[in-house]
Amino acid sequence: MRGKTELCEPVGEPEDGADSERKMIPPTYKPKKKFMQLAIAEAKRARDRGDYPIGAVITRVVGKQEVVIASAGNRVKTSGSSIKHVELETLKYVSSGYGRYLPDFVLYSTHEPCAKCAGACVWSKIGAVVFGVSQEDITAYGKKHGTEEFKWRACLISCKFVLEKGALRIPVFGKFLRPECRKLFGYPPKL
Ligand SMILES: [Zn+2]
Repeated sequence: MRGKTELCEPVGEPEDGADSERKMIPPTYKPKKKFMQLAIAEAKRARDRGDYPIGAVITRVVGKQEVVIASAGNRVKTSGSSIKHVELETLKYVSSGYGRYLPDFVLYSTHEPCAKCAGACVWSKIGAVVFGVSQEDITAYGKKHGTEEFKWRACLISCKFVLEKGALRIPVFGKFLRPECRKLFGYPPKL
C-alpha cells in the first residue's frame, strides 16, 4: 500500500464533474472485511507514530468492483490539531480529486465518525458509511482507561442521526468488525 502514513494518491482519473451520471451505492451494498482491515492497519500505524489508533479508508464502487481510493490514519497528535480527524481529512483529500459529491464512494472508519465528520459526509453526499466501534464504545473506554495523553473524548451524537438529518438516506453500517476495532483501544505501539 502506498503512503503508509500519508494519504494514498488517488487511483484513476478524477471526474470532470459529471455527477448526475454517477451511480448511488445500492441499498443491497455489503461492507467488505478487507477494507475495514486496511483501516485497522492504518489505525495501528497511526498509534505507532504517537497518534490515536483510528483509521479510515475510502473506496469507490464501479460496477461490480470496489477499489480503494485513499487510506489514512489519525494525525490529531502529530499535527497538533484536535480537529484533524482522519475521516474529514480523507474526505477532503478525495473530494479534491473526484469532485464535490461522492455518491459512489464508501467511507470505512474504525471508529464511528463524530458529528463534524458525519456532517462532512452529508455535504459531500458520500454513498455509504461503515464503522467499527461506536461513540458509546469510545466514551466507555475513555471513562475507564482514559489517560492524560489519550483521553478518548467522544461526542455522543450518532453518525446515523446526523446523516438522517441531512435527508439523503445514506446507508450506515455500524459495529462492523467491532471486536477487531475494539482491540485498537489497547493496541500496544511499536516504539
Ligand atoms: Zn470526527
